[in-house]
Amino acid sequence: MRYNRRGVALLAALITVLACSPGDEPPPSSHHLPADQRAGTPGIGDPDFPRDGNGGYDVAHYDLAVAYVPATKRLDGVAAVRARATQDLTSFNLDLTGLDVRGVAVNDVPARFSREGDELTVRPSKVLDSGTTFTVKVTYSGLPKPAKDTANLGTYGFIPTPDGAFVASEPNGSKTWFPSNDHPSDKATFNFTITVPAGVTALANGEMIGQPVTAGGRTTFRWRERHPMATYLATATIGKFDLRQGSTATGIQNLAATDPKFKGSLNELYTRSGEITDYWTTVFGPYPFSSTGGVVDDYSAGYALENQTKPLYGGFNPQETIVAHELAHQWFGNSLTIKRWKDLWLNEGFATYAEWLWSEHKGRQSAEAMFQQLHNRPESDPMWKYPPGRAKPDDLFNQSVYTRGGMTLHALRRAIGDATFFTLLKRWTAEHRYGHVTTEQFIDLAEHLSGKDLTPLFDAWLFQPRRPS
Ligand SMILES: [Zn+2]
Repeated sequence: MRYNRRGVALLAALITVLACSPGDEPPPSSHHLPADQRAGTPGIGDPDFPRDGNGGYDVAHYDLAVAYVPATKRLDGVAAVRARATQDLTSFNLDLTGLDVRGVAVNDVPARFSREGDELTVRPSKVLDSGTTFTVKVTYSGLPKPAKDTANLGTYGFIPTPDGAFVASEPNGSKTWFPSNDHPSDKATFNFTITVPAGVTALANGEMIGQPVTAGGRTTFRWRERHPMATYLATATIGKFDLRQGSTATGIQNLAATDPKFKGSLNELYTRSGEITDYWTTVFGPYPFSSTGGVVDDYSAGYALENQTKPLYGGFNPQETIVAHELAHQWFGNSLTIKRWKDLWLNEGFATYAEWLWSEHKGRQSAEAMFQQLHNRPESDPMWKYPPGRAKPDDLFNQSVYTRGGMTLHALRRAIGDATFFTLLKRWTAEHRYGHVTTEQFIDLAEHLSGKDLTPLFDAWLFQPRRPS
């Protein structure tokens, strides 16, 4: 994710207003935990986001069929979630907020269910044995509402727009439009079947399967993301769009889409996205997915999000720097995904450093000059008080996670030299392709490749509340 500079003031004003709204849900207490030890837990175990995700199973695939009517803002969905039980399960949870659940079936047998807050608890008719694969199908409908965060997240999730919907769900907004294990530590493949009024386009992750089919005034689009994807990167962005499709110079499928209001940036978005994707393959290693591109929608989000294969830009013509950032996330965040939100610098620090690498590549300001300029900021700069190696749940997207995270990588590059540093980037993306990563793993690999004790460097840059010397 990256905030658009022009959007920041608006976002800040919004946050000020939102800050006056009632407080968050109370933290979970032990009496909320199920007494039956064979019940899946209502959280996946992220201490900073204790109710996000769920325990007891691991999702392999989401098959989502949604119909959406922009005029009425009504969504009708059927989500078939294929998962493997990691323990015996008498019940398990999915994350879903708002919307009415019409029915739930497990392995095609109707199951009992209940709702409490953002938790949908499913009780299969018989116990699911540990290790078995099952499919839970949820039929639901209603008027999706985006998540609005009182801290610094703004509005996210499924956001209705006049001509469709803007769907950007980081960090936990997938539950606003489909039942899921809504935490990045459980990735899965996705199929999307999206039905909208004829004349409207639906854009999801991965590649389109076949041609859209129109019948009875409605068009159905089918998309497939065959690589593992975190739920927050799933999208079904809907509206009037102009498209340009083709391939990058190295042969990666490329799709750019712009709302008619931004049609003037369609060719630029297409060309830049292709050029940057290709360049990143030379710096970060092979492109992890089957297509690239970008979508500009007419919704003033004030940010862009790196939706897998299709970064989404919220109501602005994206500058090269932002495109470079969002496409770097395809490696850092999307292919290599954090297990815990506290490690967010592994996404944002890397994507920010990619902006500097792009500038350097283009013969503009070097990463070294950028680093020096930032390092000269006074001791009183708030960045120095916020150690980026431990993102705070109530201030997750703090600027330090981006800027000081990027500076951490430059400090590392200076310490181990260009050759080792760029080898490290490629080794990192290769060793953990499609997997999960932690800060400790990155430090270990950097020390292994360089043969240096880098603990003092990482400690000063990532974990101390002061400016590193
Ligand atoms: Zn980002």
